Amino acid sequence: MQLLKERILKDGKVFPGNILKVDSFLNHQIDVDLLDRIGDEFYRRFADEGITKILTIEASGIGIACETARKFSVPVLFAKKTQTKNIAADVYTAKVESFTHGKVYDIIVSKEFLHKGERVLIIDDFLAKGQALIGLIELVRSAGAEVAGCGIVIEKGFQEGGELIRRSGVRLESLAIVDSMGDNGNIIFR
Ligand code: 5GP
Repeated sequence: MQLLKERILKDGKVFPGNILKVDSFLNHQIDVDLLDRIGDEFYRRFADEGITKILTIEASGIGIACETARKFSVPVLFAKKTQTKNIAADVYTAKVESFTHGKVYDIIVSKEFLHKGERVLIIDDFLAKGQALIGLIELVRSAGAEVAGCGIVIEKGFQEGGELIRRSGVRLESLAIVDSMGDNGNIIFR
């Protein structure tokens, strides 16, 4: 998605540890016009998939998921991150290791909102090692629902997540794939 790539080049900042910060338009301050265009693009790519629900993970995925859900006219469900030891019986749960914080936490969704027969589009802001997506896919499958695909705004193509997910047979669409990020802030797209 050319508009997104141009925005990353203009406003993205490269930090040590392979972190790309896009806080001025996606992860802190949000450019809602850009999100609207991102929603259009995900709709264009997944319109034929019979999507019944969009699943994301708090917090950064929620805005993107909402703009996308508006195009599909379906609800958004977001997985909550929790460190609670006793997980209740009325939730589906999976473990995720956070790329940015290094901690392992549980993600949960209520069984009330995810059902057998649903076709779920999973949306997130970044794809790095793939742990967040793997956890979300596990939640969907625990419910007996189907993963119709995954939509990622920025994939870091030099990390293993993209290959892991594609090799598993899940349809993955990333709107911008970063192939390298130099220390000098030089970002190269695939
Ligand atoms: P993964 O689970 O694929 O390793 O990492 C994906 C999650 O980590 C995303 O939900 C995102 O919040 C966070 N993340 C991974 N890499 C980056 C990055 O370079 N920049 C930002 N802002 N978040 C990232």
